[in-house]
Amino acid sequence: MEDWKKAITNDFRDALVVDEVKSNQPRQVYNAHYSDVNPTPSQNPRLISANSKLAQELKISPDYLRSEEFVTVFSGNSVLPNNIPYAMCYGGHQFGQWAGQLGDGRAINLFELNRGSVPYQIQLKGAGPTPYSRSADGRAVLRSSVREYLMSEAMHHLGVPTTRALSLMLTGDKVLRDMMYDGNAAYEKGAVVCRVAPTFIRFGNFQILAARKDFTNLQRLADYTILTFFPHLKHGSKDGYIEWFKEVTNQTLEMVLHWQRVGFVHGVMNTDNMSILGLTIDYGPYGWLDNYDPDWTPNTTDNQMKRYRFGHQPYIAQWNLAQLANAIYPLIEESEPLIEILNHYKQSYQSKYMEMMCEKLGLSIPSSPKKVKLIQSLDQLMISSNIDFTMCFRLLSTITNQNSPEECYVNIIPSFYQEKLIGAQLKSDWFDWFTSYQDLISSEKPNSTIRKKNMDQINPKYVLRNYMAQIAIDEAEKENYSILDELYQMLLHPYDEQPQHQQWFAKRPEWAKNKIGCSALSCSS
Ligand code: AMP
Ligand code: MG
Repeated sequence: MEDWKKAITNDFRDALVVDEVKSNQPRQVYNAHYSDVNPTPSQNPRLISANSKLAQELKISPDYLRSEEFVTVFSGNSVLPNNIPYAMCYGGHQFGQWAGQLGDGRAINLFELNRGSVPYQIQLKGAGPTPYSRSADGRAVLRSSVREYLMSEAMHHLGVPTTRALSLMLTGDKVLRDMMYDGNAAYEKGAVVCRVAPTFIRFGNFQILAARKDFTNLQRLADYTILTFFPHLKHGSKDGYIEWFKEVTNQTLEMVLHWQRVGFVHGVMNTDNMSILGLTIDYGPYGWLDNYDPDWTPNTTDNQMKRYRFGHQPYIAQWNLAQLANAIYPLIEESEPLIEILNHYKQSYQSKYMEMMCEKLGLSIPSSPKKVKLIQSLDQLMISSNIDFTMCFRLLSTITNQNSPEECYVNIIPSFYQEKLIGAQLKSDWFDWFTSYQDLISSEKPNSTIRKKNMDQINPKYVLRNYMAQIAIDEAEKENYSILDELYQMLLHPYDEQPQHQQWFAKRPEWAKNKIGCSALSCSS
């Protein structure tokens, strides 16, 4: 037996309550945390990519990654002996409305691996229907699977808390999707991603139990979560639940702060897509800021309201936390401490955001009124200038206080989408901004080499822009995985110069501006 299998555990299963009904028909599941369900075998599973770095952490050997068994088990075509896979029951608020039961409609958990203090839960996405599939097929298409596989790893290496991906497989099955919800359904290649996280428990797991007034199972889930993932907290006591909510709030805040730092737009911040560990979870119609626009969302389903636009994400996280507070209220029966934590979130976010922006600019923390003013005026300038978010911050690190305003401006020219349209007034505002920036730089200690080094560790050079993912997808559809592999390798070191990948340090090309998959994405996946 492969050694890693000795680390298999079933903590979630063992600690929590299984659905007594064994049918795989879509239905409401009561008085349970999860339902037993086997993956549905597919026609002809084939490995596209295995994440050897993550496999190493899990102590899965390179030989096993190349084995036939790896392909069959991690595509869902066979189940290891004594393993009983399961789907979790959860609910959620979708676009601000309570949607009732949702659940793992196309995710199937296999087991956990015990590798130190917290387990790794191993989950297949796209391996067939479950009792939570409602009217859908439980499958996933290649394009969305490539996006999840690449992006979750890219986020990990950017230092953003996230679920991860161990493998990407083709199923050999065709999946019918109406990509833009316009009546033009077509068959696409099916795929399965094996996802890995300490747990995939979401705010929605607690919400569904509270909504059904199943307080016994609500408490059981809370106690399991605290004991396993917040072991330093008291469990089973009111104070412990309050402390736990505070930690979930802090972890969620940290996650969103990272999103704003790197320019990531999740796209579907429904409460069923909010991890209880503050991990970025469920990579759907996410997007990357190309030109800086706080009102931008890539999700076509959210085109009108723009509820989940970039600049709104910190507020939505707080709104979602308030829904979690409502759900766990029955364990506490006192609203003041929860409200206090939620109110504190706002203040705390604002000060942390300013500190983070200071760091992006290579300025010391804490921030000061002068620095806040500088950050706010940069925000306005960027909005007015049609400028690339990633490139602008990366290039700002090249500025020293010996440069003239003109030289500073020249340094960031590659990040303007239409430099020719920058009028005299705007240009002179940039010049003023550089002068204020240089004043602050010169009042601080680090020399320009150290400042550049610090800035380059927080402002990534290489990010997975939507158009790049789309090029990898277009090639993958033709069974050419070279771009996928190249991007995967590059995204392991997003802060490094990597001259061999310089071509990817570029603005979104003109052809990608309005192309489906590059600027706008639907939830269809
Ligand atoms: P999402 O918007 O991807 O977070 O999904 C919302 C809900 O729909 C979750 O309960 C998913 O499991 C479910 N879902 C999404 N796509 C499918 C599918 N193809 N088959 C079954 N359930 C799905
Ligand atoms: Mg989801």
